[in-house]
Amino acid sequence: MTRFMLGVDIGTTSTKTVVFTLNGEVVAQHAVEYPLLCSEPGMAEQDPQQIYAAVLASISHAVRIAGAAPGQIALVSFSAAMHSIIALDAADEPLTNSITWADNRASVWAGRIREKWDGQAIYARTGTPIHPMSPLCKLMWLRHDRADIFSRARRFVGVKEYVFFRLFGRWLIDYSIASATGLFNLQELNWDRAALALVGVEAGQLSAPVPTTTQLQGLDVALAAQLGLRSDTPFVIGANDGVLSNLGVNAIAPGQVAVTIGTSGAMRSVVDRPVTDPSGRTFCYALTQQHWVVGGPVNNGGNVFRWVRDELATTEAQAARAAGIDPYEALTRIAEQIAPGAEGLLFHPYLAGERAPLWNADLRGSFFGLALHHRKAHMIRAALEGVIFNLYSILPALEELIGPTTRMMATGGFARSALWRQMMADIFNREVEVPLSVESSCLGAAVLGLYALGLVPSLDVIATMVGSTNRHVPIAKNVAVYDRLRPIFMALPHRLAAQYEALAAFQRD
Ligand code: ADP
Repeated sequence: MTRFMLGVDIGTTSTKTVVFTLNGEVVAQHAVEYPLLCSEPGMAEQDPQQIYAAVLASISHAVRIAGAAPGQIALVSFSAAMHSIIALDAADEPLTNSITWADNRASVWAGRIREKWDGQAIYARTGTPIHPMSPLCKLMWLRHDRADIFSRARRFVGVKEYVFFRLFGRWLIDYSIASATGLFNLQELNWDRAALALVGVEAGQLSAPVPTTTQLQGLDVALAAQLGLRSDTPFVIGANDGVLSNLGVNAIAPGQVAVTIGTSGAMRSVVDRPVTDPSGRTFCYALTQQHWVVGGPVNNGGNVFRWVRDELATTEAQAARAAGIDPYEALTRIAEQIAPGAEGLLFHPYLAGERAPLWNADLRGSFFGLALHHRKAHMIRAALEGVIFNLYSILPALEELIGPTTRMMATGGFARSALWRQMMADIFNREVEVPLSVESSCLGAAVLGLYALGLVPSLDVIATMVGSTNRHVPIAKNVAVYDRLRPIFMALPHRLAAQYEALAAFQRD
């Protein structure tokens, strides 16, 4: 009898469930979307009940599509977006929505923690950069700017904890999600007393931290039937979506770097112990107690190409749609007509400020070097190149901390474009491998589940599951062009710090 494993990823736009065979072949998948609620400036929330309903619906639909009988499901294992926080009252009813990583309302508090409360020391212990994305900063914001809610709150949890509580009635947080709160001491594998004191929260108000391999059983019988599972099906708590994506693309050995460009982007590498940066440029999150993921997130990835499609190349995008062509593909073809380096046009992609490696929310986008010979096609190409240059600029910080990179894997929506993939190989001057399987966090979750249940001896089994890859080798003459432009690209944001700050202040006013 074939047996299956389920990888469930509770993401920012949807919850996806993928049904795999135990060998990692995809059998079925189903995603259920939910909105991001943004009714005031800086807000980015989600309804936790809606997310719980989406988790149930995506599991039950995926199981049904796979045609799997309840007894065939060996395990369900979870990935989730990091940094979310929900305040709950004494009856465990939500007092807030799930405040997501994308919510910026705590930005003033991030600045204060950095300056007044030795943010660097908190970061060094917790591995989470001091940024409004983190629950540390969000709790400061709630305590001071939403004091009515904070004073009524008996508990603060993330969205995965909320889902597990609804499923099993226990408040548990995996080390991986915990390590992205800014409140969790990486050495002690427990809540950081000084960070908790700063935000005015007691450990008893937070979930109990447990290893990412923790399994729970004993689903309510009716609920299990609704999901198409047995009530004793093991549920593995799993990890966060970033570290599981590294596992899912088989970038878990030393020297291997995974670059993801979806809506936003990230560069990550796995080491065997917690590593933080004396300059605070990188995060460190847990995958298991032996696997720690060091890296940098960027705000500006595929969203930049979407902006080009929707605001800059609207006519071209409309023409593509009318001809039944995907606008991204049409724009990629236009960019392809221009030589690498866009004849000296650079684009700084900071449309959404930036996190790694500069951690400056005031950065803004710009074309640099425009001349009369530049056409829109140059701008499109420069925008795609700018996204890659920006990701490249994380690499020196990462290599300084954990040593040279030997192998690069790339994933995310950008990988649909062969031009963009080749650009990455040329700008990084490294061979880039792109796995064809897409839902890397779901595969990572499922493989972590296999390991948790002792069905495989180590996570290395992922090597047999990733399947075929697109491989891109740097082209020497393109590398030579990018080698000349890269230092110009990287120097500019440092030189313009005061001007970015002034302009951002103007935009806020
Ligand atoms: P998410 O981060 O929401 O999971 P995806 O990984 O699906 O998103 O990535 C979405 C992004 O991928 C889009 O914003 C776009 O920039 C890029 N993209 C989608 N299709 C293409 C394509 N055919 N060519 C190049 N880029 C694409």
